[in-house]
Amino acid sequence: MASPVNSSDVPVPGWDRVLSAFGEHWPGASHDRLTRALELARLAHEGQFRKSGEPYIIHPVAVAVTIAELGMDEDSICAALLHDVIEDTPVTADDVEAEFGKDVRHMTEGVTKLQSQKLAEASVSKRARAENNRAAESLRKLLLAMADDFRVMVIKLADRLHNMSTIDSMAVDKQVRIANETLEVYAPIAARLGIWQIKWQLEDLAFKTLHPEEFNAIRERVAKSRKDRESELKTAIVDLEVMLEENGLKGVRVMGRPKHLYSIYNKHVKQGVPWDEILDLIAIRVICEKQHECYLALGLVTEIWRPIPGLFSDYIQNPKPNGYQSLHTKVIGPSGEPLEVQIRTRQMHEIAEFGVAAHWTYKEGSTKPDAATGFAQLRKQLFDFSNDNETSSDFLRSVSTDLFSEQVFAFTPGGDVVDMPAGSTPIDFAFRVHTRLGEQLVMAKINGDIVPLGTAIKNGDVVEIVTRNNAQPSLDWLEHAKSAHTRSKIRGYFRRRDRELIIQRGKDGIEREVRARGLDPKRVMGDEMMKFLIGQIKDCTSINDVYARVGEGLTSTQSVADKIYRRVRELEPPEQSVAEPEAKKVEATLITGIDQVMTKRARCCEPVPGEEVVGFVTRGRGIMIHRRLCPNVLGMSEKEPERITPIKWKSDGKSYSVHLLITCVNRQGLLMDIVSIFAEAKTNVTGAKIKTLPNNTAEIMIGIEVIDVVNLRELMGKISNFGDVISILRVHAPGARK
Ligand code: MN
Repeated sequence: MASPVNSSDVPVPGWDRVLSAFGEHWPGASHDRLTRALELARLAHEGQFRKSGEPYIIHPVAVAVTIAELGMDEDSICAALLHDVIEDTPVTADDVEAEFGKDVRHMTEGVTKLQSQKLAEASVSKRARAENNRAAESLRKLLLAMADDFRVMVIKLADRLHNMSTIDSMAVDKQVRIANETLEVYAPIAARLGIWQIKWQLEDLAFKTLHPEEFNAIRERVAKSRKDRESELKTAIVDLEVMLEENGLKGVRVMGRPKHLYSIYNKHVKQGVPWDEILDLIAIRVICEKQHECYLALGLVTEIWRPIPGLFSDYIQNPKPNGYQSLHTKVIGPSGEPLEVQIRTRQMHEIAEFGVAAHWTYKEGSTKPDAATGFAQLRKQLFDFSNDNETSSDFLRSVSTDLFSEQVFAFTPGGDVVDMPAGSTPIDFAFRVHTRLGEQLVMAKINGDIVPLGTAIKNGDVVEIVTRNNAQPSLDWLEHAKSAHTRSKIRGYFRRRDRELIIQRGKDGIEREVRARGLDPKRVMGDEMMKFLIGQIKDCTSINDVYARVGEGLTSTQSVADKIYRRVRELEPPEQSVAEPEAKKVEATLITGIDQVMTKRARCCEPVPGEEVVGFVTRGRGIMIHRRLCPNVLGMSEKEPERITPIKWKSDGKSYSVHLLITCVNRQGLLMDIVSIFAEAKTNVTGAKIKTLPNNTAEIMIGIEVIDVVNLRELMGKISNFGDVISILRVHAPGARK
C-alpha cells in the first residue's frame, strides 16, 4: 500500500507521465494550469482513499495520464484531474469554472452526470423490457452528453479504464456487473469513437474479470505461439528495415502488431476460426511519415515477399467510413507462411488508434486544417447506427436500433445537440430549443439549404432557424409538428391569446369584406347563411369557430366573403348583386396633396389618390397611407387610435398599382380579351393569373396601374360591362393570396 499523499511536496505517481505526454503533444505549452488542477484535486480529495487503500488522488491522475497520452488538450487534462471533485468533495462546479473556465466546468459536470445516472442498470442485456427501456434511456443520455462534447466521453472512458484495471479490490458481484457493462456499453462506444487503444484494453480487462480461465488459457497460447514465431517475426522486421533503409526511406518504423486476447477469443469462440489460423498468423505494421512513402514501402514489401493475390486493400485512397486509412496486404513471409502487412502514416496511425482524441491534436496543431469537417463527419458517424455491424455489441446495437428508430439527433449551428422523436421537423426543432424560437420561426435551413417547414430532420443534420420579431405561429404547423410537445406549445400559443378577441376580429373582418362587395352584412348574414358557412369551413361546428379561424388568420376574410357573396348570388338574381366597387363610396372632396417624402403607400390595401384614406404614424418611417377600410387600419385604430391621422390624397399624375379579382364565365381566350380591354384604355398591366373554378367559371387576378380612384372606377366599370364578367373586386393584401 502506498503512503497517503497529502502534501504538495510528495510526488503523485503518474504525474511525471502526464507532464511528459503533454509536453510531447503540446511542445512549449506551460504546465501552470495542469499543476493548479492537480493541487485543487489533491486538496479536495485529501483524506479520501480508494477501495484498494491507495490515496484517492492516484485515480484522477491515472485518468489524466490516459488523456494526456491520447494527446488531448489542456482543458481535457484539467477536467480529467477534477472529474470526481464535484461529486465527492466540497468543491463546486462554480469553483471549477472560476479557476479553470467554462469548458472544464462543462466537462467535469458531464462526467459527474453520467455517473449519477446509474448506468449500471444498462449492464445486463437480457432483462425485462422495462429494464431495457431504462438502459436505453441511460444510453441515450450518454450519447447525448458525448454528442455535446466528445471530450466528456473520452474522459469517461479513461475513468472506466482505470476503474477496470483496479477492479480486483471490489466485491465479486460488482466486478461482474461492471465488467459486463464495460463490454456491452463502454467498449463499443470506444470503438465508435475510434479509440481502439482504449477499446482493446477495456475488452481484455473485462474478459479477464468475466472469464478468468479462458483469459489465462489464451494468454498462455499467445505467449507460446509468440515464442515459436518470434524468430520469424524478427527476420521479417529486419529484412524489411534493411530494404527500406537501402531505398532511402529513413525514419520509417517497422513493428510487430500486438494481439488482443478478447478479439482472439471472439474469433475462435464466436466465429469458429481455428486456433492455428489465429495464433500462427504474424503481422507487421509499417509507420511512415508521408503518404507517398506508404506506397514506396508497399512496393518494397511486395518486392521481397510474394503477395497473395486478391488480398490487397487501399484504405488510403478509399478510407473506411469511420475515416480509417491504411494499406493492407498479405504476402508469403520469410518462412513460407502468410504475413499480414499494414502500412500507414503516423497521423493515420494515431487516428486509427486514438480516434476522436487524435482529432484534437490535429485541430490545434493545424496539421489537419479540416478538423471542423472532421468533427461534423464524426458526429454523423456517431449517430448513424444504420450500417453498424462491426463496432457495436448486440446490446448496443439492439438498444440503439430501438433508440434511433424513435429518436433523431440534430445540431444547432453552434454545435449543441437537440434530440427529438424520429420524423421531427424544423418546427419541432425550433420549439425544442426554445418556445420563443418556435413562435418567431419564419424559415429553416438544414445543412445550409432552405427547406420546407415540414421536412423530416435526419440524424446529424445541422438545423438553423431564422426568426423575425413579429412573426407568429400558424395553426397549419400542427400538421407538420411531429412531437406532442411541439403541438401542445403551438396550441398553447393560440390559447394564450384571448379567444373572444380573435372571434371579434374575425367577425369584423368578414363584415368589412362583405360590405366591400356591396352587400349589407346585417341583411345577408342571417342564421341560414351562418349554417351554410359552418358547413363550408374546415373544422367548424359553430359560427364562432368560423370567426375564430378567420381571426387567427387561418382562413382569409376574402375567401369567407367570397363564399357569402356567391351564396347571395345563387339565391338572388345576379344583376342585383354585382359588387359595387368600393371606390364609389369615396368622397369626391380632394384637397392638397401630401409630402411624398414623409409618406408611404401601404401594400396591404393598395390605396390610390382620391379615395378615402387615413394615415398611420409609424415609428421612424413616416406616415403609412391605408384605405380607410383596410383591416389593418381597423385593427390599429382599436389599439392605438392616437396614431391614426386623417389624410386626403389628391392625384399627382403618377400611377399606382392595384390588384383586381375578376370572376368570369370561363372560355378560351378569356384572359387575352380582358387584358386587351386594359390595353385599349392605355392602362399598364403588371401581371395576370387565371384560375379555373368548377361550374364553368374562372377567377382572374390582375395587377394594373392607375392614376387615381376615378381612373380605377372607369376601368372597373368597363370590365363589369364586358359580357362574361360576373363580378369584379378590388383585392386586399394581394400578397397574401395564392
Ligand atoms: Mn473517477
